[in-house]
This record gives sequence, C-alpha cells and structure tokens, in this order.
Amino acid sequence: MALPMLDKIVIANRGEIALRILRACHALGIKTVAVHSTVDRNLKHVAMADESVCIGPAPSADSYLNIPAIIAAAEVTDAKGIHPGYGFLSENADFAERVEKSGFVFIGPTPKVIRMMGDKVEAIRAMKDAGVPCVPGSGGPLPDDDATCLRHGREIGYPVIIKAAGGGGGRGMRVVHTEAALLTAIAATKQEAKAAFSNDMVYMEKFLENPRHVEIQVLSDGQGNAIHLGERDCSMQRRHQKVVEEAPAPGISEEQRAQIGRICTEACVRIGYRGAGTFEFLFEDGRFYFIEMNTRIQVEHPVTEMVTGVDLVREQLLIASGHKLSIRQSDIVMRGHAIECRINAEDPETFVPSPGLIKHFHAPGGPGVRVDSHIYEGYKVPPNYDSMIGKLIVHGATRAQAIARMRVALSEMVVDGIKTNVPLQSRIMADMGFIQGGTNIHYLEKRLAERKEKAIGLG
Ligand code: ADP
Repeated sequence: MALPMLDKIVIANRGEIALRILRACHALGIKTVAVHSTVDRNLKHVAMADESVCIGPAPSADSYLNIPAIIAAAEVTDAKGIHPGYGFLSENADFAERVEKSGFVFIGPTPKVIRMMGDKVEAIRAMKDAGVPCVPGSGGPLPDDDATCLRHGREIGYPVIIKAAGGGGGRGMRVVHTEAALLTAIAATKQEAKAAFSNDMVYMEKFLENPRHVEIQVLSDGQGNAIHLGERDCSMQRRHQKVVEEAPAPGISEEQRAQIGRICTEACVRIGYRGAGTFEFLFEDGRFYFIEMNTRIQVEHPVTEMVTGVDLVREQLLIASGHKLSIRQSDIVMRGHAIECRINAEDPETFVPSPGLIKHFHAPGGPGVRVDSHIYEGYKVPPNYDSMIGKLIVHGATRAQAIARMRVALSEMVVDGIKTNVPLQSRIMADMGFIQGGTNIHYLEKRLAERKEKAIGLG
C-alpha cells in the first residue's frame, strides 16, 4: 500500500524558498497553491504552481503575514497543508495553531514547541534539562532585585550580555563590560524589550568574545525518531545577518560532530520535536554553547543537502504527511564540502538595497554548482521585501575545490540592471582568513571596516 501523502499544499512564502518548496512538492506529486501579494504576481513559482491566490497588497503585514487571508486561500483551494518557508509566519505559534484549528496540517513543529522555542528563557531551560550545553548565565529571568543581579554578574564574570526573552533578529541585547554599568544596562534593555516585544523579561549570559557560529541540522518525526545531519558554519556575518555558510564547519572533528549531534537528537525526542530544525550554537575554544533553536527550514539548508545528499524539504513534507523517518543516523555520511553565497540586490560597498528591473541574467553552471533563485530576465525586484534574490551553492571534494568552484561560479554570474553583492562575495572567496577557515563572527565586519578606512585614506 502506498503511504499516505498530503495531496495539495499552500506555499505561504515568496521568492527563492517558495520555488524551492514547489520543486520538492512537484517531485513528490503534491499539488501546489501559490499565495502572493499584488506586486508578486510575476514570481516564477506563481506561474509554475497548480493554482495561485492573491492574498493582499505589497506590504507583508497585509499579505504574507495576513493569517485569515492565507487560511482562506487553503480553504478555497481545498489544500491539505500549509508550508510556511522561513521568515514571515514560519515561527509564529499563533499561526501554526490557527492552521491546525482550521483543519490543515502545519508543515513544521507543534504550536507548543514553536512557542517554547520563541521564548528564549524557556528554550534555554528546556535545553539545559535535555543536557544541551548552554552559555553560563542567570538560568532564568533577572528579578527586580539589584543585589541578585549583581551577584549573577559576579558569578558569571564580565563581560556579560543582557538579552530579552522575547528578542529576535539580533535585537534586544546589550553587552556589559563592568559591574558599574550593569544595573543601568538591565533597566535600558528591559525598557527596550517592553517597547519592542511587549515583554520586559530579560536574562543574563556570559558574553563570549570571539565565538564562531556553528549550527546543527536535525530531522525529527515527532514519533520518537530523530537524526542529525551534521553542522554548518555561518560565522561570516554582517550585522548578525549571515553572508556565507558552509558545511562541514572547518576544524570540527568526527567525534565532536557525533557528540553534539547526539545531544541534539536526544533533545528532539525529549521535547517531541517534529520536522526540520536547527540548533544554533556559539563555538569557542572547542566548546559548543546553545543560543537558540530555529523551528523551520533555514536559508542555508542547501549546504547540508549538498554534503549529505538528503532533500530536507522533501523530508519535511514526508514527516508532515505522517511518515516515520526512513533515514537512519548511520545512513548520513558527509561527503566533500559545500559553500553557499547569499546573493543580495544591494550595493556591494554601502549595502543600500538596489531593487529594480533585471535586464539580463545569466546563471553559472558546471559540476557541483546549484543556483536557488527565482529571478529571470525581465523580472522586477520589488522594494518591499528582503533583498536576497538567490543563493549560489557549490560542492567540491575538498574545501579548496569548493572555494575554487565558487570563485568561477561568481565570475560567471551576470545580473544586469540592479546592483548585487557578487563583488563582495568574490572578495570573500579570495580572502586569506576565509581561505584558511574557522574565522569568528566578527571577522567580516572587521575586514569591511579596514577596507573603509583604506578607502578614505586612513589605512
Ligand atoms: P536573535 O534571536 O536575535 O538572533 P541570538 O540569541 O541568536 O538572537 O543571538 C544573535 C547573535 O548575538 C549571535 O549570533 C551572536 O552574534 C550574538 N550573541 C548572542 N548571545 C551571545 C553571547 N552570550 N556571547 C556573545 N555573543 C552573543
């Protein structure tokens, strides 16, 4: 008997990830419904979907974040499930709950798990209980009592970082270097958190000075089975935004991978995790420190796919259809090295977004080259959304071969009519620090600052 499968789903997203989800659906014989805003009528996946529904005007608050409109689209098309992609409503527990209450399958974890991971204090508590190594910290919300806060600071040791429990996107954090500055910093972070997240709960962590960002990809079926697919290094960041990602992370041993991977899969089983997920860690002096869990597919998932050969979006769809994981941990073998460069419509020097008409587009190709992008010649990049217009991913037998292939692929890429960060990505691929591997999360910003100084005659 054929295993049951969701037969039609709504793709509640746009751009490259909507296209990526559509491809996985069609390969499984699942019909697709594209929902889009008025400015997104010409998106590639809208043309390729079996059906499409316009869900509102350009501003995302009125379209891609419009819960009633998305659920109505599922109703009128008789879809069975909703895939949220990343960003937008993907980690919104209320949305997941509304989807399920309306009788549809949410392609992701249960609302309860999403809610738990969205509250950082709760998430850290759950992870600690599950044996996941966390950053030394207050272990819970900071009370309104100065003496206790000062005691936490002394015990943890300066510098510390004050973080909002409801924070996200790199907001609601403050680094404190001395005890004298602690109490005012706590008050200021609380005030900011209240205004931004309607939740003034804050907690304290040791501030790690030169960590790398290393994250573990997991798949868990919510029926007691979980596997990990190794790690990704996403330390090349600007303003907490990832710019380049790679798998495996340079310098991580088989033993380290197996150990942290096992801890993550055990935590998944313990919390009843369902779907694809990522445990984000800071990695310093050979040790992992959990910072948060992302309960969705991530932008950088292709590097993991390239080294493991597993189609992560396909697995999400199978799990959501009720299948048990068919892949065992022993089936996961990391082969070679993969790198992803995010391609953004922005000025490569000033980072100012550069929307507009793409007059000419040529995608690179060749062995080990993958382009995940929705753009085409004549497509107009709207100014309303994130500036990422695609991802260039390469695979090689070794890291050096992957870098060489990425250099060639970047040099082949033509996007005329708008500015892109391709020149920046080419510079990163030629940078000695990157080539050596294992740079920390501050590296790119330091290099960019040095370049700016040189350009204005300070260097
Ligand atoms: P968000 O949900 O806003 O992305 P995270 O907890 O993931 O918040 O932290 C975002 C970034 O802030 C991290 O990638 C890291 O650069 C920095 N950061 C967070 N916690 C610490 C810490 N304890 N020490 C050093 N840097 C930190």
